Amino acid sequence: MKLASVFFILMTCTTIARCEDALTVTQIAPGNYAHRGHDDVATPENGGDIANVGFIVGTRCVAVVDTGGTLAEGRALRAAIRAVTPLPVCYVINTHMHPDHIFGNAAFKDDRPQFVGSAALAQAEASRTDNYMRALNRELGSAAAGSEIIGPTKTIDGVGTLDLGGRTLTLRTWKTAHTNNDLTVYDEKSGTLWTGDLLFVRCIPVVDGSVVGWLDDIARIRQMNPRHVVPGHGPLDPPWQPSLDAEARYLDGLARDVRAAIKKGETIRQAVDSIGLDEKDRWLLFDMYHRRNVTAAYAELEWEQ
Ligand SMILES: [Zn+2]
Repeated sequence: MKLASVFFILMTCTTIARCEDALTVTQIAPGNYAHRGHDDVATPENGGDIANVGFIVGTRCVAVVDTGGTLAEGRALRAAIRAVTPLPVCYVINTHMHPDHIFGNAAFKDDRPQFVGSAALAQAEASRTDNYMRALNRELGSAAAGSEIIGPTKTIDGVGTLDLGGRTLTLRTWKTAHTNNDLTVYDEKSGTLWTGDLLFVRCIPVVDGSVVGWLDDIARIRQMNPRHVVPGHGPLDPPWQPSLDAEARYLDGLARDVRAAIKKGETIRQAVDSIGLDEKDRWLLFDMYHRRNVTAAYAELEWEQ
C-alpha cells in the first residue's frame, strides 16, 4: 500500500508541470537523497545551485540537509521531497553559514520545522547578513528573489541526535575548520555521513576558519569510517578516503608553506604569489579561491610564531 502510494506520487509528479521544477536527486543510500550542485561560483545561469544539498527520510518525518543558494532552489528541493514522500519536514539542518547552503531555508517556513545548526551559527550569520544579502543580489539578481537568512531554532554544541522515526541522525559540531560553525550529519542506519564543506571533492577547499583545525577534523572524520559520504561540493558518494587524502594534502601543504614563508619574513603578498601553485591543475576553481586561502592561512599562522 505504502509503496503503491509513493509510486503514484512519483507518477503524478512526472506528469504535472509544477513538479518539473523539482531538483534532481539521487538516492545514494536507503532514505538518503542528495542533489549534486554545479562545480562553480554562483551565477544567474546556475541560479546559485552550487552546493550539494538533500534530505533524509524516516518513518515519521524528513530532515533536510542544507537548502541551496536561493529561495527558488529551496522550493525545488521541497518539490523533490514531495516527489519521494508525503511525510512532513520536521528538521531543516544547515551544515554551516555559507550562502549556497542556507538561502533556501525560507522555502520550508510553512512546514514549521526546527531549523538546526551549530551553536555558533546564529552569531556567524548575523555578522555577515548585510554582506551576504548584497553579494546574493549582485551575483544572482532576480534569481535571488525572496531569499533570506533564517537562523537556527535548535542548536547543537558537541553531539546531538534527531529522531526521524526508525532512523536516528547524529549531528556533530567540529573544531573551527572550513568555518567556525561546521556541523556534520550522520545517518546511523545507512552509515551515511553528510560532511557539509568539511569535505570538498574536485573543487578546491575554501578556508574561512582554520587550516590547523581543519586538518585535525579530517583525522577525526577518518575515524568515523562511514559507508557513504555526501561532500559539500563535488561528486556524491565518492571513495571518501582518497578524497580526504587529497584535501588533507592541499591543506597540509598550505600550512607548511605558509609557516615557512612567515619564518623567512615574507610578506602576505610574497606568500600569495608563490605558495601552492603546483596544486593548480588538481582543483576546480583554484584561481578563484587559492590566493584567498593563502591569505587566510597567513593571517592564522603568523600568530603561532
Ligand atoms: Zn562553505
